[in-house]
Amino acid sequence: MISYEELKTILDNNDRRFIEDLAQRARAVAVQYLGRAVSIYAPLYLSNFCDNRCVYCGFNREMGIQRKKLTPEEMHLEMAKVAAAGIRNILLLTGDSRKMSPVEYIKSAVNAAKTYFPSISLEVYPLEVDEYRELFLAGVDGVTIYQETYNKERYRRLHTAGKKTDYDYRYETPERIAKSGIRTISMGVLLGLAEVSQDIYRLFSHLEWLEKKYPGVEYSLSFPRLIPLKDSAGDYFEVSDVALIKLICLARILFPRVGVNLSTRERAHIRNHALPLGVTRISAASRTSVGGYSLRHCENHEDPQFEIMDTRPVAEIVVMLQQQGFDPVFTDWRRIPAESAPINNK
Ligand code: SF4
Repeated sequence: MISYEELKTILDNNDRRFIEDLAQRARAVAVQYLGRAVSIYAPLYLSNFCDNRCVYCGFNREMGIQRKKLTPEEMHLEMAKVAAAGIRNILLLTGDSRKMSPVEYIKSAVNAAKTYFPSISLEVYPLEVDEYRELFLAGVDGVTIYQETYNKERYRRLHTAGKKTDYDYRYETPERIAKSGIRTISMGVLLGLAEVSQDIYRLFSHLEWLEKKYPGVEYSLSFPRLIPLKDSAGDYFEVSDVALIKLICLARILFPRVGVNLSTRERAHIRNHALPLGVTRISAASRTSVGGYSLRHCENHEDPQFEIMDTRPVAEIVVMLQQQGFDPVFTDWRRIPAESAPINNK
């Protein structure tokens, strides 16, 4: 594993030739280990109720936004709309409220999603092992959990109310997911919340430890950059396009088999440019509000969690991938009955 000093030196070096060398190494590793397949997914927000106060988030409990959670009928409307665009890999999201989005509610959404999508992932509040197991048996094959920042002091200042104030419980979440038998875990930090090299070093160390302890899990990394709330005056850290590109290169070189996700938070030209460096999964035609795909009459669709930067429709993303020599993949996983699936806990 790279040392902190080495990682910081790389991130501080903005010499053009050095960056091009790094990119060439990443491209070579990507071709050797991953081939040309890029999976496409879409997020679907089930609920924006949240008990936490993450000061950088548009869903935090202090925000005067319209709160909504999808009814069973609305879930089907949303899912049918996403599926009609060709998406077969769905990421279901909720805000962090056990009361408003209990596990039973999430499970009902998973059961609805099975009608439309062979692959179902979750980005919800941290759960216990038996709860993850229950959702795994219901059909979930992946979970996304971001630590947000590994800097404990910054974490404390940025998460000021609710269960999410518990840094350690969040840190231990990927291990609980691994123990449940769930196949894929996506990890990351929200870039800009703290000094980047420290956060990335801790993220890579966390991933390396998990890979050793739970080698049967497929891991992936995401590098979302903070999009500050309108009119907010947070003391955040700038993360340039070049820094993002270097992080993707580093992830590919240091973890050749780990997936790298790049969402529609990033502008189209950045996503196009980053693909050959080893990105394995991208979102397309995303909406980040509850009911954002089909309930356009609903006031809530004016309150997204964050603004989408790449608004290209799915068909355009497919053409872009093909023009760059990639194979767009909609279905890379099919569910089998999970009752007899192994558990990863040791
Ligand atoms: S980041 Fe998640 S937990 Fe924090 S306020 Fe937003 S929705 Fe709630």
